[in-house]
Amino acid sequence: MTAEQSKELLLSVQGLKKNFGEREILKGIDFDVHKGDVVCVIGPSGSGKSTLIRCVNYLEQPTDGVISYRGENVLECFKNLPLYRTKVGMVFQQFNLFNNMTVLENCVVGQVKVLGKKSEEAKAIAMKYLEHVGMASYINAKPHQLSGGQKQRAAIASAIASGRSVLFLDEPTSGLDHKHMLEVAEVLREVWDTGISVYVITHDLELIIECCTDVIHFENGTIADQYQMDAEGMEKIRKYFIQGKCCGKWSKSD
Ligand code: ADP
Ligand code: MG
Repeated sequence: MTAEQSKELLLSVQGLKKNFGEREILKGIDFDVHKGDVVCVIGPSGSGKSTLIRCVNYLEQPTDGVISYRGENVLECFKNLPLYRTKVGMVFQQFNLFNNMTVLENCVVGQVKVLGKKSEEAKAIAMKYLEHVGMASYINAKPHQLSGGQKQRAAIASAIASGRSVLFLDEPTSGLDHKHMLEVAEVLREVWDTGISVYVITHDLELIIECCTDVIHFENGTIADQYQMDAEGMEKIRKYFIQGKCCGKWSKSD
């Protein structure tokens, strides 16, 4: 990836606020997503991390703020939100695959139904990404036949096959054992090589160290800190986990 590519601004979030009733959950969030970023979002439970990415995807209606994709206001430039979600998508921990469809069908359906691709073309694209995440030999399996790590990898392949350029993942490795966590980390690193930007909410220090380029500390509905994963950033995040400020596996508050 060239420096120029990595600077390309894909998504910009400005002044994002979200209230649930009287409660102010997001208090005016600003952040940009550049091509090729792999950003991890860490912060205590209940601080608003999931609400943030649900708002960015318009699964929740923001109370205030502007979200722009490639410089254009999303609500003005996208006639339908499903189309926007093929550019900026979310992978939940469990709910991204249709249980009644095979892995391949899961990776094809969005391309055909939302993007209007022909089935054969969609299958070829799906196969390319399933191979990329090491799932080519499971194309005929149904989700219930897969391990948690395999489901997550299939869901990531499905998300990329639909042409997304920004992918938000909400705790993709929670509930996975160490081996499967490493598989997902490996996939995220490979996704990075394709130039897709990834925002991953995680409590998993090892996942962060394995694959993230940037870190956002989220606290009480605000971005408390933001830095790159250079040597200084690495030291900072280790301290954060050791001090138990994050609800990670090393947290004292758990
Ligand atoms: P995190 O992902 O950081 O753990 P969430 O974004 O899930 O935090 O939640 C932040 C706060 O917003 C929590 O107090 C939660 O109870 C509240 N919240 C989330 N979704 C809703 C909702 N649909 N209605 C009311 N309150 C909600
Ligand atoms: Mg959450």
